[in-house]
Amino acid sequence: MADHVLPDPVVHIADVRELDHDLVVVPDGRVQLVPNIGVIGGRDAVLVVETGLGPGNAEKVLEFATEYAKGRRLYLTTTHFHPEHAFGAQVFAGEATFLLNRAQAEDLKVKGPGYLDMFRGLGERAARHLDDVVLPEPDLVYDDVYDLELGGRVVQLRATGRAHTKGDQVVRVPDAGVLFTGDLVETGQFAIFPWFPPYDTDVSGTRWITVMERLAGEGARVVVPGHGAVGGPELLADVRDYLRLLRDETWARRDSAMSEETIVEEVRALMIQRHPEWTERDWIDKGVGCLCTEHPS
Ligand SMILES: [Zn+2]
Repeated sequence: MADHVLPDPVVHIADVRELDHDLVVVPDGRVQLVPNIGVIGGRDAVLVVETGLGPGNAEKVLEFATEYAKGRRLYLTTTHFHPEHAFGAQVFAGEATFLLNRAQAEDLKVKGPGYLDMFRGLGERAARHLDDVVLPEPDLVYDDVYDLELGGRVVQLRATGRAHTKGDQVVRVPDAGVLFTGDLVETGQFAIFPWFPPYDTDVSGTRWITVMERLAGEGARVVVPGHGAVGGPELLADVRDYLRLLRDETWARRDSAMSEETIVEEVRALMIQRHPEWTERDWIDKGVGCLCTEHPS
């Protein structure tokens, strides 16, 4: 990706939107490599979801969260280890308790260094944000589910199992019906398949579908995607349906012994026809590549 197509991935603390009482989102402003960032408050503590890319962005997020918290204790979590979501966590050390699911903590340790190199290669602007990154270590690691008591509000952190990455986590605020999905869901663009064989083949289309089927059945009222506009439960159904179609169209062709190149070409055209307004079309090709290697469970 050349620098001129990649805008500077700066977190702007602007247009902060209240989704529920004491629960806000700092929207991504539709800038690539900027995630939606959540701040969820209870009587005694505040949870921050995502750091932004690198320590400079994370400092802004921490400053905002500290001001927002007004003396309440701070927690931090990230939905998965990808750099724009988690590679600013070092800034929160000593200021917040950093909580992660075990699989994500493993991803950070095992894949973090490689992703740091890869993202530095995305251009000068991205690289500058990653200059002083120290890969963070969580203060507290849980296995499957963690109920975080904020005081009069419990937030549920939950590992979903492998999907967009090995260590995806969702954050649920049950009293508000709000769900933070990380990159399991994006609005207005094709699902991001970080399918980079032989370096990274952790993403799984079939498991991702299973996760989306489960999430779509859980009755969330508001969905905060990793990137793109906040929406309702239809965002979950949209991703589920897209992934199912991508799988079915890919497998129908693979099973008729078509070359992968032709499969990609045909499925890409079909998906664009179905979702002409969605951006990031190259992720279709990666999704087809991934699903070509998968089989019914
Ligand atoms: Zn991601």
